[in-house]
Amino acid sequence: MSSQRPPLTAGRLLVLVLGSPFLALYGLVTLVRGAIALGRRGRAARLALGATLVCQNGHANETVGRWSCAACGSIYHGWVGRCAVCSAPAGRMDCATCGVGMPLPWSRR
Ligand SMILES: [Zn+2]
Ligand SMILES: [Zn+2]
Repeated sequence: MSSQRPPLTAGRLLVLVLGSPFLALYGLVTLVRGAIALGRRGRAARLALGATLVCQNGHANETVGRWSCAACGSIYHGWVGRCAVCSAPAGRMDCATCGVGMPLPWSRR
């Protein structure tokens, strides 16, 4: 009976250690690319859902309606986040009930 130690253990460890940074890097790149693509899609999907914004006084406001653009001054219909005339991103909207201004969460950078 000879207790043979598998010589592969150390070698496998080495391969794992050497291989993992490359795998991690590759995984990271793939993840970042996927996250960017998903983020764009997720953002668009979330915006398309037309969530309501709640003002400081608790009034729920639809994000789809009639808005005036702060950039070009046009009145536009639809989703509040982007002017339909000059396509400028909106930075805030006013509560329809009490007039309190609300920053748009998706416009923060
Ligand atoms: Zn505009
Ligand atoms: Zn309000």
